Amino acid sequence: MKKLAKLDLNRCPQNHGCPSIRVCPVGAITQKNRRSAPVIDEALCIGCGKCAMFCPRKAIFMVKED
Ligand code: SF4
Repeated sequence: MKKLAKLDLNRCPQNHGCPSIRVCPVGAITQKNRRSAPVIDEALCIGCGKCAMFCPRKAIFMVKED
């Protein structure tokens, strides 16, 4: 079963550069600008969970995909 990172928009204040971008080992997280929410590319995500552990607002969480 694969794990994927998901974003909870209600927890992300969308007012700063996403700090989790730099911990993703595969570059799966991008952000258009500092006032936009980060976007997680599910095709690239390997489910390592680093971004979820790193986000100070707990806005990124892991889900299991069938
Ligand atoms: S779970 Fe790992 S691979 Fe997936 S977006 Fe987060 S840091 Fe990147």
